[in-house]
Amino acid sequence: MTEKSYLDLKTDVWDNGRCSGCGTCVAVCPADALYFDEGEMVANPKSNGYCKQSNDGVHCGACYEVCPRIGDQPCETLGNYLDIVAAKSAFEIPHRQSGRAVTAILANALDEGLVDAVVTVTEDRWTLKPSSVVITKTDALIHEAGSRYSWWVPLLAALKYAVVEKKYSRIAVIGVPCVVQAIARMRASDHDLIKPYAGSIRLVLGLFCTETFDYASLVLRKLKIEKKIDPAQIKKMDVKGKLEILMQEGDKAILTLNDLGSCVRNGCHICTDLTSLYSDISAGAVGSPDGSTTLVIRTPTGKNFVESAVRNGKLTITGGVDTAAIEKLANAKIKKNSGKK
Ligand SMILES: Cc1cc2nc3c(=O)[nH]c(=O)nc-3n(C[C@H](O)[C@H](O)[C@H](O)COP(=O)(O)OP(=O)(O)OC[C@H]3O[C@@H](n4cnc5c(N)ncnc54)[C@H](O)[C@@H]3O)c2cc1C
Ligand code: SF4
Ligand code: SF4
Repeated sequence: MTEKSYLDLKTDVWDNGRCSGCGTCVAVCPADALYFDEGEMVANPKSNGYCKQSNDGVHCGACYEVCPRIGDQPCETLGNYLDIVAAKSAFEIPHRQSGRAVTAILANALDEGLVDAVVTVTEDRWTLKPSSVVITKTDALIHEAGSRYSWWVPLLAALKYAVVEKKYSRIAVIGVPCVVQAIARMRASDHDLIKPYAGSIRLVLGLFCTETFDYASLVLRKLKIEKKIDPAQIKKMDVKGKLEILMQEGDKAILTLNDLGSCVRNGCHICTDLTSLYSDISAGAVGSPDGSTTLVIRTPTGKNFVESAVRNGKLTITGGVDTAAIEKLANAKIKKNSGKK
């Protein structure tokens, strides 16, 4: 068992700005010794000083074991896959981002009992403040469709609640690539404290991700104070080379990515994974026509979930995905962020 502690995580990740904010270390700490502060651009977790390893020499090192920012970062574009398809939900979902295929696959999985809970991100309707959530009902999942770009929330903190408190054993996790990398580390680990998490995760659904904006920097400072945009009046946000904001009354505001540079989370600047390389299924908008989701089906487990949704009339799929467009975007991310730290 590793003898590392959060002090090594601090030296190797926190102190040099490599933390992505995935929250996995917080989730797996058995002493609840790690936490995130509230505020603008919180770069990494903190310790409350109760670490059993560093205080009492009790073997642990769980936090270090799962951190996706230890070791070399991936630099593939599409990675391994079985199939790539353009997909759409076959039923009506109001707040869609692309083809709402993610919601359709997981709604089918809940209905069929393939999973008992979905760990994902929700946001407050009025403030747009994101938080992690455990969903067990299809209606709630449909309500949560759409992307949260002002994510920054330690998503996997909700995993602890799902595994340790609720004892769900067939969990689906939706996450951006850094979250998916952390789960891959969990799945590969033989650490006694990590195994219960890995054993409870049945499906990992990774979203494509170029970067994420810090909630306080984007919504509270840039939009609310500088641009005088009231978050409660925002209907939808979409990032496609620029940030498009659709207001409740139909007006649109557009911000360039240059304008948003100061809102991008620090940890994103070294991230080289666009397509969630280690997921069971990856989902993105690029590569498919408007109104469809690109699905990169990577594992037999992922294939079973997609096939079940198609068989039950919840999802339609077609071929013809523009993989060159995905590779171009993935290569641009690798080029921009490789070798920075
Ligand atoms: C921060 C971010 C950046 C992205 N960047 C790109 C990009 O550059 N290029 C691209 O092609 N696609 C990108 N995507 C993916 C894209 O926006 C869609 O999420 C994807 O195409 C799936 O669409 P859908 O309609 O099938 O999903 P839906 O059916 O709308 O379901 C999406 C599900 O994801 C959950 N969710 C939303 N945000 C998050 C989050 N931050 N973390 C975990 N779960 C979440 C929702 O709760 C919902 O359950 C990004 C997504 C995010 C969140
Ligand atoms: S990247 Fe994730 S696991 Fe690593 S220190 Fe940051 S929050 Fe913890
Ligand atoms: S760009 Fe990378 S580090 Fe940033 S949120 Fe997306 S996956 Fe995580």
